[in-house]
Amino acid sequence: MIKKIPLKFVFILFVLTAFIIALFASITNENEEDDCCFEEVEEAILTPQFEFGFNVNEYNVIHDTVESGDSFGAILERNKIGYPQILNIVEKTKSTFDLSRIQVGKPFTLLLSNDSIPEPQCFIYQPNKLEYVVIQLDDENAPYIEQRPLTIQTKTASGTISSSLSETMDGLGLPYQLINDMSDIYAWTIDFFRLYEGDEFRIIYDQRMIDDSIYGGIDQVRAAYFKHRGRAYYAFNYDGVPEAEYHTTYFDESAQSLQRTFLRAPVQFSRISSRYNLKRRIALYGNKVRPHKGTDFAAPIGTEILATADGIVEKSSFTKGNGNYVKIKHSRIYSTQYLHMQKRNVSVGQSVRQGDVIGYVGMTGNTSGPHVCYRFWKNGLQVDPFKEDLPESKSVPESLLKNYNAFILPIKSRLDSITIPEINRNLSEASNTK
Ligand SMILES: [Zn+2]
Repeated sequence: MIKKIPLKFVFILFVLTAFIIALFASITNENEEDDCCFEEVEEAILTPQFEFGFNVNEYNVIHDTVESGDSFGAILERNKIGYPQILNIVEKTKSTFDLSRIQVGKPFTLLLSNDSIPEPQCFIYQPNKLEYVVIQLDDENAPYIEQRPLTIQTKTASGTISSSLSETMDGLGLPYQLINDMSDIYAWTIDFFRLYEGDEFRIIYDQRMIDDSIYGGIDQVRAAYFKHRGRAYYAFNYDGVPEAEYHTTYFDESAQSLQRTFLRAPVQFSRISSRYNLKRRIALYGNKVRPHKGTDFAAPIGTEILATADGIVEKSSFTKGNGNYVKIKHSRIYSTQYLHMQKRNVSVGQSVRQGDVIGYVGMTGNTSGPHVCYRFWKNGLQVDPFKEDLPESKSVPESLLKNYNAFILPIKSRLDSITIPEINRNLSEASNTK
């Protein structure tokens, strides 16, 4: 049972902490410096989520695909498993599964321990849509292989937003991976940090099942509908266009890609703890105006920070106020900057693609809690990316329009016929029993 701490007490504690930090922090006013961020960070309580028979909440989970030039050994080496151990695993596994056979483009899942130094525990490889192979990697247990058939089930889900998207979906018992997929699909179009009570969603998705009974992860979201502030946003998974060129396979009902030039957030599933605000006043500084020219995304230490668009790393360094930070130049006009990192993952001059991990959330520099301060530069000035009219993306080419419209017609009518339940009133009751 978690006892509720009175709000007043939390507030006093918070003010005290902030005051002490303010005393010790050097308050510099340098260009690009940050002096924001006196906010508490809530911790999420997670319910068990199973994939391939493992509770993924007990691990750090990496979903990835085998890339060109990759091998089983290279993947493990990147995750800090030594060569002697790799040889040992390959040798022991040989008679049942030949690890040299892993193929470019096939998905794999790595389960790492949930420690401060995550250690790989398990490698799950999917040679095809209907099978998976589990290879245990820890020292004590001998590696074993489990090769069981997967079946694909098409399912639907729907709901009305009561608080955040993740809380609502979690309350409906939907898999965490589906929540992540939804946030990816709509990363450019919907600000999930500013949902409204009463916003609605419908999803058609494929789920993998092991022996028809054990959940094996989400295979794909076929289509989704999100009604945000009265406006409908459709998303159809259409693989008729090359994904590499379009950065996505999701298009709306008028064949427009859901991708925009910039991701809306540099971290997945965080929350905004402080917005861009030129008139911000801080009581701690005698109620003086201290503009906040960034957007703060609170997230746990170690969370991956993603480049919000393709570009070249312009700066990767450390200052007293910013802590570890990275700045990326995307075009003649736009740059983005990411502050307070625990660790930087890129160096100056390096070219990055949208979604590349450029560092990890920390609390270096002038900050009181783990978050990334995201700064958006336009023609040398810091602006609010949420108020910018950013360039639109590509749509399905003219030559494929007929094909596309025929493809989405039955899916759309199925999507539209899914009934949406009222706000899930059981949510608060459910969380009280945890
Ligand atoms: Zn900030």
